[in-house]
Amino acid sequence: MPCATADEVGLIELLDAVRYADPNTLCSPSCRQALEWSDWETSVSKAMYELLRTLENVLRSTISSQLTAHFGQADWWNARRLRLTYGTTEKIRQAEEKLRRAGVPLTPTTVQREVTLGFWVSLIGRGLDYETQLWRPMSGGFLGYRGRREPLHERLNHLRLLRNKVAHQDRIGGRDLAADRRSVLTVIRYVSESAARRLDVADAAIPALLASRPGTCSQRSEGAS
Ligand SMILES: [Zn+2]
Repeated sequence: MPCATADEVGLIELLDAVRYADPNTLCSPSCRQALEWSDWETSVSKAMYELLRTLENVLRSTISSQLTAHFGQADWWNARRLRLTYGTTEKIRQAEEKLRRAGVPLTPTTVQREVTLGFWVSLIGRGLDYETQLWRPMSGGFLGYRGRREPLHERLNHLRLLRNKVAHQDRIGGRDLAADRRSVLTVIRYVSESAARRLDVADAAIPALLASRPGTCSQRSEGAS
């Protein structure tokens, strides 16, 4: 006897709910517990997206103000003495193109708001000696960070991949989301202790959701796991 009604089976298919479920909790491929997982995943993705959005804003304003001061121009990426990789230049060009098509005036602020988290993460990458060209001038914005550039880049790249998963509606519920949350707060703390504290308090959602993951369907037979 399936646990889901015919209506629920239709919904499970329509929402592609099984995609978000932990298969070890379902009694069958059309178990109604998949709907619980789908709702839970929506909530946890939304909460994680909010954290990552704050991370992106913090990175943008920090890197931007450091590089603007260093190069003496708000469109620091056009500085004559700066050599950027094709990839970096291309991301700027695509952002400008998108703004132009949308009829938004091109200013250093609008362009920097348009580029994605991946752009900011790439600036902390190896690039064309970005270590000397970008990391040294911007590192003053990360006063809470004492390490080398590479581990920070690695941490940020991991969060960038998580952001892409959220944006592509992939399942993130199987990850160690508590560690991901800590990682976001860690990077923000490098920039601003008070911003990290504020975000930690503001995000009650992820800890609550992690404490209330959907359980196993009661019709799942013992030993099926
Ligand atoms: Zn079931």
